[in-house]
Amino acid sequence: MDETPKPKSNFIRDIIDEHLRNGRFTKVHTRFPPEPNGYLHIGHAKSICLNFGLARDYKGLCNLRMDDTNPETEDIEYVNSIKDDIRWLGFDWEDREYYASDYYERLYDWAVVLIKKGLAYVCDLSVDEVREYRGTVNKPGKESPYRNRTAEENLDLFARMRAGEFPDGSKTLRAKIDMADPNMLLRDPLMFRIRREHHYRRGDAWCIYPTYDWAHGQSDSIEGITHSICTLEFEVHRPLYDWYLDHLGVHHPQQIEFARLNLSHTVLSKRRLLELVESGLVGGWDDPRMPTISGFRRRGYTPESIRHFAEIIGVAKDNSIVDMALLEMCVREHLNKTAPRVMAVLRPLKVVITNFPEGRVEEFESVNNPEDPSAGTRKVPFGRELWIEREDFMENPPAKFYRLAPGREVRLRYAYFIKCQEAVKDAAGNVVELRCTYDPATRGGDSPDGRKVKATLHWVSAAHALDAEVRLYDTLFTVRDPSGVPEGQDWKDTLNPRSLEVIAGAKLEPGLAGAAPESRWQFERMGYFVADRRDSKPGRLVFNRTVTLRDEWARIVKAGETQV
Ligand code: ATP
Ligand code: MG
Repeated sequence: MDETPKPKSNFIRDIIDEHLRNGRFTKVHTRFPPEPNGYLHIGHAKSICLNFGLARDYKGLCNLRMDDTNPETEDIEYVNSIKDDIRWLGFDWEDREYYASDYYERLYDWAVVLIKKGLAYVCDLSVDEVREYRGTVNKPGKESPYRNRTAEENLDLFARMRAGEFPDGSKTLRAKIDMADPNMLLRDPLMFRIRREHHYRRGDAWCIYPTYDWAHGQSDSIEGITHSICTLEFEVHRPLYDWYLDHLGVHHPQQIEFARLNLSHTVLSKRRLLELVESGLVGGWDDPRMPTISGFRRRGYTPESIRHFAEIIGVAKDNSIVDMALLEMCVREHLNKTAPRVMAVLRPLKVVITNFPEGRVEEFESVNNPEDPSAGTRKVPFGRELWIEREDFMENPPAKFYRLAPGREVRLRYAYFIKCQEAVKDAAGNVVELRCTYDPATRGGDSPDGRKVKATLHWVSAAHALDAEVRLYDTLFTVRDPSGVPEGQDWKDTLNPRSLEVIAGAKLEPGLAGAAPESRWQFERMGYFVADRRDSKPGRLVFNRTVTLRDEWARIVKAGETQV
């Protein structure tokens, strides 16, 4: 991809390079294995960029696999959203769309192989008893009284489990490993459990379901995966991953773990994001405040900016929290190059130019993108009545306020110098209109006599303005690490009550009338905005602020607070 000309080396590439050198593998085949129990978030984007990126760079392949072994929580809506999000990010799994739920038969047959080898058994302990027998980190577990059933008996019971002869939870299939292993995951882990639940793809065909550990490595093996890349919490699962594949004697991928992405001022856990959606605390999975891929998309982020972010953060072995400001920097950088500039007044204040003839309209040639000359220019109309930003005027300006004030002259972008002669107030004393004069000699924005002004304001001609709704966003949480709240405190208590501000009466320059849903713009001085892909229509424009123009990341770097 254009923004990643030369891949940075990292420990995963080192491992792959070594495998290719020593002949363990001759190609690279990765997979992205989401569970369809929620929408993908920016952490998944990191994993997608990593897995598809490695396949691209090593001229290998990357599969999409739905890791769908939990019938209770999975749904086709999530499958579809996952596919949309990956495509939008710019990656393609071609015809390699796989489902762990298509492997249930294979997983059943392989379980039979282990039973025949005396390496798996049907256990009648209840869930609580299994837990009790497992021991603790410091105390070895106890063997199940059912551990030494004969292979014949196990085969018979396992077949009857599948046939639906036993109630839910009454039996499990377990691997026979070592109840004293220091790694608790190797203390006879569960492989199958009985659960009468409708599966969104397999319907009621199965009443036993494989566990994550029994499904994952074997699914990798079936697909001929070479490098099974996952997050650090699965490091302790690796001995089990290896044990199953070794004892089945089948193709054995290498599991490699990396640190998951944590992002400041948000939560990256599908369970928590689901809670926000279900409790109505956000407007849905793609609410522009959500850290989901679809949320960032609706907020106006570009796929390029997210891929660039994934490249910058790289992969590491230790967990850290990446500052949201770094992600904002990435989108700002991309939009600076690509987003056309327009003028929009968010909180309008009327300006009447008293010496400008009534009914006259002038047009000013305005640059669409100073970063991209090929974007050309457009004509913006100017008239006697204008809108300016309310915050660009102060009746009693403090020392460093250089914008408009009574008696003061400023430049209107592309147009003229204007001078404020009078602030008109309503009965309550609020300024409702400014009466100004303009200097015709300053057309284009410079005065022939060399007179300087200290501020340039954006504006919109009142006669031509379009009305729009504009949504301004702040971080969803007020604290850097909402998941890190002390015991007994609810992480949701740190939600930011001011994360959304809706402005109903913004005024836009007329050229935006046809702004397509998802078109991205810089509103001069106000930030980057996107036409909302769901709500914006011609005649009822709605814009979301993607990010402000202020570079918060630069401030953080300067202040020495960086922690990528
Ligand atoms: P969550 O904790 O949000 O529920 P998960 O790990 O259960 O996520 P999966 O659908 O199982 O979600 O994840 C699919 C892939 O994405 C896995 O390989 C997982 O390791 C990876 N992944 C999930 N969260 C992150 C993250 N924050 N950073 C990087 N990779 C992640
Ligand atoms: Mg998972």
